[in-house]
Amino acid sequence: MNLLLHICCGPCAIYPVAQMLNDGIRISGYFYNPNIHPYREFKQRIQGVQQFSQLTQLEIEIDANYGLTEYLRNVVFHEHERCAICYRMRLEGVARKAKTRGADAFSTTLLYSKYQNHEHIRKMGEEIGEKYQIGFYYQDFRSGWQEGIEKALEMNLYRQAYCGCIYSEQERYDKAFSKIKQTTKKP
Ligand code: SF4
Repeated sequence: MNLLLHICCGPCAIYPVAQMLNDGIRISGYFYNPNIHPYREFKQRIQGVQQFSQLTQLEIEIDANYGLTEYLRNVVFHEHERCAICYRMRLEGVARKAKTRGADAFSTTLLYSKYQNHEHIRKMGEEIGEKYQIGFYYQDFRSGWQEGIEKALEMNLYRQAYCGCIYSEQERYDKAFSKIKQTTKKP
């Protein structure tokens, strides 16, 4: 099987890539993440992915266009559902690319993260696969969470402190904001 793998960052790619290669799948990677802000963070994650590519010899296409405008135009006024919008932007991007390349399937390293809505990504991937008439390869890579972290440390890869968008950056660093979020959480 020829598979195009959406790569969100170097550390998240380690475990899924190792698993798929082990299963005999031919992979190439695609970095397409218009959700990552600000610009310096975007560049830093690209460098991490390039480093991962050099270390593993995995071919990875990098979309280096900074997608702030596109991302915000999709999300503004829909902030409460921003993650679903963000998943869709990226999964559709990789499905389209996989289709034009003649790949058999596509997948995403988002399936490795313990912090993403795993079930939502799986369902959306399948739905998008049907829409573009290309298979969505699903595997629950979360079991390799710790292994991926340890390998990322060994490889000295850049490990980000927040998910990617400017909203998640505030959630990570603005203590007052987090406190308000905590106290307004539904029971
Ligand atoms: S928190 Fe993460 S998944 Fe959600 S919108 Fe921001 S970057 Fe995308």
